[in-house]
Amino acid sequence: MPEPSSTQRRIVLYPAPVLLRKAAPVERIDEWVRRLVEDMIRVMRDHEGAGIAAPQVGESVRIFVVEERQADDGEPAEPLGVYINPVLSLPVGAVEPFEEGCLSLPDIRAEIRRPPTITISATDLEGRTFTRTADGFLARVWQHEFDHLEGTLILDRMTSIDRIACRRTLKELQADWEEANPPVPKPEETPPPAKGIGRVLRGFKRR
Ligand SMILES: [Zn+2]
Repeated sequence: MPEPSSTQRRIVLYPAPVLLRKAAPVERIDEWVRRLVEDMIRVMRDHEGAGIAAPQVGESVRIFVVEERQADDGEPAEPLGVYINPVLSLPVGAVEPFEEGCLSLPDIRAEIRRPPTITISATDLEGRTFTRTADGFLARVWQHEFDHLEGTLILDRMTSIDRIACRRTLKELQADWEEANPPVPKPEETPPPAKGIGRVLRGFKRR
C-alpha cells in the first residue's frame, strides 16, 4: 500500500480512471486506512457532501463515509458513519427517481432511479461489523457511494436524454482532465538523439 499521506488528498474529478474501476477490499484497518478516512471526512465536509467514497480521493479501496447535516442548524441528521467493505442487500420497494449530484461530477445533476429501502453490512473503523436497514435519503446515499466502489457513476444510471443534456459539461471535464494529465510518450516515440551528438559519440568511439 502507498505511504501514509495526508493533506494532499483532494477530490478526484471525472474521468479519472480511479473512478471508473472496481475498488479492492480493505484487508486490514491500519494507520494508512485511518489517515485515508480522515482525509475523506475532511474532503467531504469541505465540499459539503453527504458522502464520499475512497476512489473520489484517488484510492481504489472499498470504503465510504456518510454524514448528513441539516440545512438549518448544521446539526447532524445522520451522524458520521464509516463503511469499510460494505455489502448491500435486500432492496425493498419499486425504484423511485430522485435528483442526485456527485462531488466528482461538478455541475451535473440528474434523476436517478433506485429502490427506496436497502440493508447494508459493513465494518467500522474499530473493526466491528454492523448491519443496518434504511430508507429515504440515507438509503440513497449508501447506494450512490457503493456504486463508486464498483466504478459506477450517476452517468451510468441516468437516462440517455439526461446524458445528452450534460454532454457539454462532460466534454469540459474531459478536456480539463486531459490538460492536467498529458499522455506520457511511449519509448518508441522518444525522438532519436540529435545528429550532432551522434557524430560526436561515433567520433569518440573511433579513437
Ligand atoms: Zn458520487
